[in-house]
Amino acid sequence: MHDESFSALIVEEETPGQFIRRIGTRHIEDLPDGDVLIRVHYSSVNYKDALSATGHAGVTRRYPHTPGIDAAGVVISSRDSAWHAGDEIIVTGFDLGMNTPGGLGAVIRVPATWIVRKPDTLSLRACMMLGTAGFTAALALDRMQRHGLAASGEVVVTGATGGVGQCAVALLAGQGYRVTAVTGKSGQEEALKRLGAIEVIDRKDFNAMGQRPIAHARWTGGVDTVGGEALDAMLKSAALGGVVAACGLAATADLNTNVYPFILRGVSLIGIDSAETPVQTKARLWSLLAGPWRIERLDAIAREVSLNEVGAVVRSILNGTHRGRTVVRLPDYNVTSPDMR
Ligand code: NDP
Repeated sequence: MHDESFSALIVEEETPGQFIRRIGTRHIEDLPDGDVLIRVHYSSVNYKDALSATGHAGVTRRYPHTPGIDAAGVVISSRDSAWHAGDEIIVTGFDLGMNTPGGLGAVIRVPATWIVRKPDTLSLRACMMLGTAGFTAALALDRMQRHGLAASGEVVVTGATGGVGQCAVALLAGQGYRVTAVTGKSGQEEALKRLGAIEVIDRKDFNAMGQRPIAHARWTGGVDTVGGEALDAMLKSAALGGVVAACGLAATADLNTNVYPFILRGVSLIGIDSAETPVQTKARLWSLLAGPWRIERLDAIAREVSLNEVGAVVRSILNGTHRGRTVVRLPDYNVTSPDMR
């Protein structure tokens, strides 16, 4: 007998423009065609998931839909010879959770080319404590290094209490950089210092540096998750040869700046796109996160919730009060006779 249904977060358009979320049942036969059927053990909630869960057409075009750009789990069955039942794997990005049913459902079916083998030294849960946010922090560091980031010095991270922000603070501090964290939240100084920040700056004070044509040169590198004034301020306060990674748009997608940082200090502005990073690069960076780039204090960054609690997490992300990472534990699912349809 086949157990072919599974629990999932389902987002529906109740009336035009009005989206509701519920925990419901989906069926394996309704999943898109793909190479590998996967039992998801853990997922997480990212900014993009919050957008998908509230009907943002720039992320998800078709509803009903199950968001979840991250998934860590075990292969149920595979048509591709690279993967076998029982393999522990990670899927982040590509189209997962956008227009492909995502990790906030207990089963996914995806192309074999989206899958990374889970490193031995990270648990499935730890992989999702990092998730796209931790991977993005690693991608930012990797790309900054390839663009000439100095091996030591001062770096700055904006949106520092967010998922990408906290992972970036911890990762960069662990690699020996002196990290300044920029946050709009009061009362987070001690927590950010425990992650490794040496200094915490209020968002307004940091952004004020952008009001000048160019500011005091300070940062050898920077990770911006906010956009707009924060990215402008980061560029203008970057040191000679500094490298700034534009990762996010938590405040805005706009950027008004000038060319002084580029022509007076040779600053590089690099773009970070975690979703479409080739799977070989994803595998390499996950190996680093499992080894020399390991973030030791993941328990301080991430908390775990059940699928039922995802709605509240979505609201906190969208109103800017979310902190760190939220891992989602998927309900038990037993496949008694796995098949590929
Ligand atoms: P979170 O919601 O976890 O964190 C966002 C943080 O940004 C908040 O905690 C807050 O930090 C800050 N923030 C929120 N609203 C504002 C605002 N209006 N103005 C200024 N700062 C604000 O999101 P994630 O960390 O998951 O993602 C952060 C950004 O990075 C998002 O835009 C996301 O889409 C993007 N992203 C991009 C990826 C890529 O591949 N390029 C991959 C993953 C995420 P604080 O209060 O500390 O300032």
